[in-house]
Amino acid sequence: MIQIDSLSKAYGSHIVLRDIRLQFEKGMVYGIVGENGSGKTTLFKCLAGLETCHGHIKSEFNPIKNHIGFLPTDPYFFSKITGKEYLQLLCNARKTSGGHMDEKNVFDLPLDQYASTYSTGMKKKLALTAILLQQNDIYILDEPYNGVDIHSNMIITEIIHSLRALNKVVILSSHIFSTLRDTCDQIHHLRDGQISTSVTRENFDSLEAEMKAYTIGNRIAKLDLK
Ligand code: ADP
Repeated sequence: MIQIDSLSKAYGSHIVLRDIRLQFEKGMVYGIVGENGSGKTTLFKCLAGLETCHGHIKSEFNPIKNHIGFLPTDPYFFSKITGKEYLQLLCNARKTSGGHMDEKNVFDLPLDQYASTYSTGMKKKLALTAILLQQNDIYILDEPYNGVDIHSNMIITEIIHSLRALNKVVILSSHIFSTLRDTCDQIHHLRDGQISTSVTRENFDSLEAEMKAYTIGNRIAKLDLK
């Protein structure tokens, strides 16, 4: 279980997160939704220990950062490292063997090529494979579906279901509501630096309707489409 209390984060005078309180349980998948710039990535980085913040993050996993597999929106790779070397490097960091990399290559990536030459989607798939081979307890996936082809999207959804069955904590963000509907047990809506709404599966439809009404409003009518 992970308990977040009174988490706040500011960049200079710009307050991005204010008094966030959240709880994440094992065997559950959580979605975080919010507009661009609402603070999803900042929240993930605070959780993963990649940003300083105020407040408390309590967890049975200590230190929590050694149990988190964090998939960033745009994974970065050093220029002269192959896909296979990257997977091995991340496994070494967790002292896990990772096994036979070619057999674990579920996304059929060209593992002998330099990772920096991969497409956006391939980079994301490599980074995801690496954190899965690490066998983490907590997975934070920042827009895992973004830039990834439809076949891989299907694999990612199944991976998330498997992680839930393995009793892991999974937290993800997505800009596509249907992907959250397919994977999440609970969705939190981040707005103006705070969690404005939290809904469980039976209320996903009402959250989607609320977000649609708020986001779309009369914008389309303004276009006066003919
Ligand atoms: P989201 O992931 O929801 O799109 P972010 O967490 O990336 O939002 O950003 C939230 C806000 O924090 C934005 O206004 C962004 O410009 C600002 N921000 C993020 N990182 C930094 C940083 N390193 N320095 C200053 N401002 C930042």
